[in-house]
Amino acid sequence: MVGSTLALRSKMASPSTVQLASLSRRSLSTRSPIQAVRSAQYLRPSGLSQQTIPRTARRAYSDAAPSPAPSPKPRKRFRLLRWTWRLTLLAGVGLVGQLAYSIYDQRHPTEQFVPDPNKKTLVILGTGWGSVSLLKKLDTANYNVIVISPRNYFLFTPLLPSCTTGQVEHRSIMEPIRSILRHKKAHVKFYEADATKVDYEKRVVYISDDSEIKGEISHTEVPFDMLVMGVGAENATFGIKGVKEHSCFLKEVGDAQKIRKRIMDCVETAMFKDQTDEEVKRLLHMVVVGGGPTGVEFAGELQDFFEEDLKKWIPDIQKNFHVTLVEALPNVLPMFSKQLIDYTESTFKEEAITIRTKTMVKNVTDKYIEAEITKPDGSKEIERIPYGLLVWATGNAIRPIVRDLMSQLPAQKNSRRGLAVNEYLVVNGTENVWAVGDCAITNYAPTAQVASQEGAFLARLFNTMAKTDAVEKELGRLSRAQAEAKDEEERNKIFDEIRENQRQLRRTKQIGPFQYSHQGSLAYIGKERAVADISWLSGNIASGGTMTYLFWRSAYLSMCFSTRNRVLVALDWVKAKLFGRDVSRE
Ligand code: FAD
Ligand code: NAD
Repeated sequence: MVGSTLALRSKMASPSTVQLASLSRRSLSTRSPIQAVRSAQYLRPSGLSQQTIPRTARRAYSDAAPSPAPSPKPRKRFRLLRWTWRLTLLAGVGLVGQLAYSIYDQRHPTEQFVPDPNKKTLVILGTGWGSVSLLKKLDTANYNVIVISPRNYFLFTPLLPSCTTGQVEHRSIMEPIRSILRHKKAHVKFYEADATKVDYEKRVVYISDDSEIKGEISHTEVPFDMLVMGVGAENATFGIKGVKEHSCFLKEVGDAQKIRKRIMDCVETAMFKDQTDEEVKRLLHMVVVGGGPTGVEFAGELQDFFEEDLKKWIPDIQKNFHVTLVEALPNVLPMFSKQLIDYTESTFKEEAITIRTKTMVKNVTDKYIEAEITKPDGSKEIERIPYGLLVWATGNAIRPIVRDLMSQLPAQKNSRRGLAVNEYLVVNGTENVWAVGDCAITNYAPTAQVASQEGAFLARLFNTMAKTDAVEKELGRLSRAQAEAKDEEERNKIFDEIRENQRQLRRTKQIGPFQYSHQGSLAYIGKERAVADISWLSGNIASGGTMTYLFWRSAYLSMCFSTRNRVLVALDWVKAKLFGRDVSRE
């Protein structure tokens, strides 16, 4: 508006006025408004006083000075930019504030109190997805809670394959259980020990300290009123000879560290002086058995490591380094949709990872595996596949402590894969033992997603049960008081209280059975690509590629246990991008 007014008025003015106006505009474009006003005064035609300048020109001159924007469009744009900048700044300040608060909160736990010793003893076995999710939401003031696990930390397993190559450091995905427990309202006891046996009849758990340093007592028993089995599962080997002795698993932090060392050991040994060609080929052959998500993610990470770092620093391995994924079924990732399976297989082809489907490993030695291959015509053949590194990722098996408990319960007679539970996760055949996660058999796959939802459900259930107990105790007291009431008025008053408590009891008892809500499946497949089967409304969205990889990263970052984990993982990713992964052996 201001600009167009100026132009219109200039047209109406005399030539000298036009010149003046244009001069003043020109001076405005390069100087500050104050300088421009000053210079415009100097430029007035000599002999003309303020009064002798035509009125229109004076107006043009005075209008022009404080309004530098020539047209309305840029102004709008600048306003938009200004607001965008302000909002970004505000969001940034908010984010930093939130980060600072959560770090402060993490570092400064509040005072805890010890729960009433007369309350029930709740023993929780394990510090994995199921148990920790239960602990997170449990009101620990309601019970005497004791946690027993050989691992004094929670492990964020979805990023474990990234630890095998140093893309993420293992400590970045570990959260100390001590810090988790110290943030609870009421004190929780923790014993770093293996639970070796549950005696259901005696209501006792036997524990053993298997760490390197032992005190005078390293075996003892812990009585319980309520018990939660959250011990997960161990690696399935199907009794195949040589698997335990010669292969690496991928379940715990120690496994990832062992694999990381072995990769470099194979590479450096292959580079040893005068090594034969055949031996170099064997040492640089990385074989992964099991085409489930663990095997696929590891194979992808390993190939990335080779492409982005190893071959740069050790070019001599380029010709022979090779990753092979061996799977007994006709395809990998059976839990994903057909199009994502095809996408994964074609991406692996691009990455030069060999997939050997319909190949079942039957025997493992220190230098080769023996696998039964089903040919297209249905005939079978045994093939020897030499390897330098062998990673075994063929799923889950029952832990001995779970098997032992099952053997004590006739109701578990027909259960083959773990503890059969009812819809409230109560172990069949018991009334005070619950099971969560990989050790429990439900209709769902053994995933972190299921385990954490089960843990959260149990926390709700236990919190409700504690409330119910309190209300029931109160009801008992009220009915005794009613019987002893002196007059009708007092009796009626107590009766009202009883009715209110009964209403409350009905409300708290309304907790429904466990229902799993599937959010989708995600897996990294290498080359900065991921696949995702995401539940959306009542359907499913299948996607794969680089955008899915960015989604995978942001989803896992947001799912990390703590702010500390999130910051460390993000820094690890930046570090690996800037400097590459570390190829030192330790
Ligand atoms: P776990 O998390 O295994 O925890 C078991 C706990 O019990 C541990 O603390 C252990 O130390 C303890 N314990 C063991 N024995 C005893 C004993 N005798 N006494 C006391 N304590 C004991 N799932 C997903 O949904 N998404 C993923 O992306 C994903 N990625 C994965 C990647 C890898 C490499 C692996 C191995 C698994 C992945 N999973 C994923 C599966 C997921 O990790 C498991 O389903 C989940 O950990 C099961 O939780 P849990 O609590 O039952 O057992
Ligand atoms: P899995 O059970 O999903 O897959 C194991 C694979 O090994 C199977 O496909 C099986 O056919 C194959 N196999 C078994 N014996 C074999 C043999 N002798 N020779 C060749 N192949 C053989 O196991 P996993 O990948 O370790 O996963 C375990 C659980 O953890 C699953 O429930 C999985 O969904 C979950 N998980 C999920 C993710 C994710 O969501 N990104 C990642 C890892 C694990």
